[in-house]
Amino acid sequence: MRSPAEARVDLDAISGNVASLRERAGGAEVMAMVKAEAYGHGLIPAARAALAGGATWLGVAKVAEGLRLRAEGLTGVRTLVSLGVPGEPYDQAIAADIDLTAGAPWMVREIADAAVRAGRPARIHLKADTGMSRGGAGAEEWPALVEAALAAEAAGHLRVVGLMSHFACADEPGHPSNASQLAVFREMVEHAEKAGVRPEVRHLSNSAATLTLPEARFDLVRPGIAIYGLTPVPEAGTFGLRPAMTLVAGTALVKRVPAGSGVSYGHTYVTGRETNLAVVPAGYGDGIPRHGSSLLEVLAGGARRRIAGRVCMDQFVIDLGDDTLAAGDEIVLFGPGDRGEPTAQEWADALGTISYEIVTRIGSRVPRVYTGQAAGGGVDG
Ligand SMILES: *Cc1c(COP(=O)(O)O)cnc(C)c1O
Repeated sequence: MRSPAEARVDLDAISGNVASLRERAGGAEVMAMVKAEAYGHGLIPAARAALAGGATWLGVAKVAEGLRLRAEGLTGVRTLVSLGVPGEPYDQAIAADIDLTAGAPWMVREIADAAVRAGRPARIHLKADTGMSRGGAGAEEWPALVEAALAAEAAGHLRVVGLMSHFACADEPGHPSNASQLAVFREMVEHAEKAGVRPEVRHLSNSAATLTLPEARFDLVRPGIAIYGLTPVPEAGTFGLRPAMTLVAGTALVKRVPAGSGVSYGHTYVTGRETNLAVVPAGYGDGIPRHGSSLLEVLAGGARRRIAGRVCMDQFVIDLGDDTLAAGDEIVLFGPGDRGEPTAQEWADALGTISYEIVTRIGSRVPRVYTGQAAGGGVDG
C-alpha cells in the first residue's frame, strides 16, 4: 500500500449498525450522533451512511459542525446542536434550519436575539439535568427555563420542539442513577407539558441506553458510538454491531539488528537476540497513543506483534523476530477483529480508556478511505 497510514471506514457497517439500532429502538426515531468528525470516521460520509441506514436526525455538538453538514448538502434533515456555549453563531444556525439546545434562561435569550437577527424563529430543545450534573437545568431551575422559553415562544422568537436529557451511567446497566434519571426526566417532561410546551420529540437515550434500557426510548434515541460499531457496554457482548474503522499502515522498512540493540527513544526496549525490526509509519501525531508504547499490539505478517519501545510522533517499531516483511506490506493496527487484528476496544482496555477515545483521536493527517456501497471507494482528506 502506498499511504503511510490510513483509516478505512466501512460505510456499509455504519448503515447496517444504524438499521439494527433503529430496529432495537422500536418506533422511536434515530438521531445519529456525528459530532467530532463522526467519532473520527469523517463527518459527511458517516452522516450520509447513517441516513442511508434509517437515521432521520443528525446530532452534533457545535454550530460549526452543523453548518458544515448544511454546506455539504445535507439540508433536508433535522439537525441538532446539543452544546450550549455563549457567543456561538446561533443566527447562522437558525438561518440554516439547525435546532439548538437551551439549558438555561440566558441561553434562551441568546437564541431569541439570534432569531431576530436571522429573521426567523429558532427551533430549540430544552435540556434537563436529571442527574449528570453537567449541562442543562436541574429540577430547581427547570420551571424558570420553561417559563423563559414559553415567553420567547409567545413573542414569536422560537418554538420549543424538544425536551431532552442525558444519562451519566447508562453504560453500567443496573446502576441506580439510571432509574432515577429516567424518573426525574418523566417529571420534568410532565411539568413542561403542563406549562404548555408541545414538543415534537422527547429524548434521553445514548447508545448504552438504546441497547439496554428500552423504557427510556421516548420519541427519539441518540446513539453515537454504537453507530460506529463499538459498544459502550463491552462486557455485555457486541450486540451484533460491526466496527466501521480499520486503521492500517504500510511497512516503511525492515532491518536486521544484533542482540542488545536499544530501540526508539530512551531505549526502553532492547532486543534479546538478533532480530528483524519493522518501522511502522504512524505515531502520536496521527493519534496513536504514546501510552501504548511497549504495550499495544498490531497484526503484522499474520501474527500479533507488540509495539517495541516508545511510540514516536510519526512512527513506531515492532520486533518481527526471524519473520520478515517487505516495504509496503500492510500492518493492521486495529479493526473489526475478524482477521486476528486487535479491536479499538482491545486497545482501549490495554490503555485504561474507552473505545470512543481510540477512534476519535485518529488525526487529520490520516486519510479516511471509504469502502462499501455508499462510498464507491472514495478518499477524503
Ligand atoms: C455524544 C452524545 C450522545 C451519544 O453518546 P454515545 O455514548 O456515543 O452513544 C448522545 N447524546 C448527546 C447529547 C451527546 O452529546
